[in-house]
Amino acid sequence: MKFIILTLFPEAFESYLNISLLKRALSKKLITVELKNLRDWADNPHKKVDDRPYGGGAGMVLRVDVIDRALRDIKLKVKSKKLKVVLLTPQGKPLNQKIAKRLSKFNALILICGRYEGFDERVRSLVDMEISIGDFVLTGGEIPALAVLDTVARLVPGVVGKEASLTEESFSESAGRRMLEYPQYTRPEVYKKMKVPKILLTGDHGKVEAWRKSEALKKTKKRRPDLLH
Ligand code: SAM
Repeated sequence: MKFIILTLFPEAFESYLNISLLKRALSKKLITVELKNLRDWADNPHKKVDDRPYGGGAGMVLRVDVIDRALRDIKLKVKSKKLKVVLLTPQGKPLNQKIAKRLSKFNALILICGRYEGFDERVRSLVDMEISIGDFVLTGGEIPALAVLDTVARLVPGVVGKEASLTEESFSESAGRRMLEYPQYTRPEVYKKMKVPKILLTGDHGKVEAWRKSEALKKTKKRRPDLLH
């Protein structure tokens, strides 16, 4: 799967892409990431891509013509028709596992990162989808783009070692229900008087599985009852 990120700060992505699962997925070519600097589509010697908002007000706004040129160029080079253009914005649909799963079925995603006061409203007409990572405002779309990339990449076959761990994870759908993951423990067996539940030490896989299911349900009822409705 191909991720193409349109940003004013390509360097913001490098260290995160160079560690752990994503690094491995990149080296195995399960995913590819192209970082595109929006300034490459500026039409002036100073590479300016923003301007003052009409009507006045604080800050600068990214220009629609620059983003349009960038998208048209990038789309020409992406051969696949299974391509989705995603705008990162606090005004978008809140990101969740269901959306990530849907996005993981595409061959290519173009992720557009805003900056400053955001972008010209007409940019919305150029994209297929708007995503927010929560009801708060960050300085730019780079962290949201990484959040989308990371969560979608994990769903690309082969990226996460054991596929089973994906189906059991929090928010994944299992038997038509979305739940939080069951509690996990590792060594030491006792820590500051807190003990690992005995059932996990029995080696009885059937019982462990039943316990995990019931714990997942209990936890979801307590912490996120909304998921069960
Ligand atoms: N003025 C904009 C507003 O009130 O909606 C916010 C602009 S924000 C400072 C700059 C950019 O950061 C946005 O254009 C967007 O790309 C990104 N951004 C900030 N918070 C975000 C969030 N919660 N989810 C997704 N993107 C976000």
